[in-house]
Amino acid sequence: MSLNRPYNFGAGPAAIATDILLDAKDELLDWHAEGMSVMEISHRSKPFMALLEGLQQQFRDVLDIPDNYHVLFLGTPARFQFEMIAMNFLSHQADYLVTGYWSKLAYDAATHFGKARLAASNEATNYLTMPSEIQALEDADYFYCTLNETLTGFALDDVSRLSDKPIICDMTSCLLSEPIDVSQYGLIFAGQQKNLGPAGATVVIVRDDLLQSISNKPSSYCDYRLHAKHASNYATPPTFNIYMMAKVLDWVKQQGGLGCVGETNHDKARQLYQFIDDSDFYDAMVSGNNRSIMNVTFRLNDESRNENFLSSAKANGLLALKGHRAVGGMRASIYNAMPMDGVLALIAFMDEFAKTSV
Ligand SMILES: *Cc1c(COP(=O)(O)O)cnc(C)c1O
Repeated sequence: MSLNRPYNFGAGPAAIATDILLDAKDELLDWHAEGMSVMEISHRSKPFMALLEGLQQQFRDVLDIPDNYHVLFLGTPARFQFEMIAMNFLSHQADYLVTGYWSKLAYDAATHFGKARLAASNEATNYLTMPSEIQALEDADYFYCTLNETLTGFALDDVSRLSDKPIICDMTSCLLSEPIDVSQYGLIFAGQQKNLGPAGATVVIVRDDLLQSISNKPSSYCDYRLHAKHASNYATPPTFNIYMMAKVLDWVKQQGGLGCVGETNHDKARQLYQFIDDSDFYDAMVSGNNRSIMNVTFRLNDESRNENFLSSAKANGLLALKGHRAVGGMRASIYNAMPMDGVLALIAFMDEFAKTSV
């Protein structure tokens, strides 16, 4: 359904599909004939428990998650995982691959808990190129990386060969953007507000043997095993977030599943990068196989036109294109909820802006 809303290219909290918002609006006063919204109902009630269990199954179906993995939902921000991971799994030493702002923060957080070691860092190139040499420790507890660095739009193209230790991966800005092989990972986490709905929850997918191997003594809420044991209903879970996430997973299924969603996302990104590469007016920040399909970063050759670009874009219904302050330039976040039409509208605008600026 088209409501003529502007296109939101914000990196997060990010756009949510209009159909999902309309659906939530319809159910706001009365969910499942309960006479109240999902926000007002007990988290131990039958309908809510069914929703929570159903959401786990939806994730298993959509991401093809093997049975030996737990799917957990936590009412904490994504970055709380930086601490939880170290608290649970860092007992001897662990490898951190730093490819951007988020992996750097995760590494810094882990150093407070134990011996976190840099396997490699691309900080010297402003996080824009792949480190040439990555050294994984033989006896690391785990290998940590960030699949898609949201600020720079720097993505790792192959994670499986980085280490033979359990790979722990931050997928906050790319989970559900395309199919992944979950079995390559020990733990995957993603905050909700990029590709999975509103801000306020984090999904954690963790292999059972990794949980069984925990020898640290994380304090109550921080212990993954507690959340697994209570099927994510230990503390009061973020009920509205869970409800919205279930709608997002339904939406993915309606699109034909993750394979179809992934094809569309690759197509969206390919067209935008192609336009930028063909233009003398714009430059992409990341090159080659490390280009993100979710966050496309670019600069205007003449950066004195930045403000004009942003205000003209806004006047054309294209919002939140300003790059992160740490990076500058522009960033078009084209998560699942950004339709191809939005990307085509952006390309048409960029083309027109370049033509009228010379
Ligand atoms: C947004 C983001 C985070 C942080 O999310 P919070 O919920 O604000 O903690 C972490 N990692 C990545 C890759 C992100 O994009």
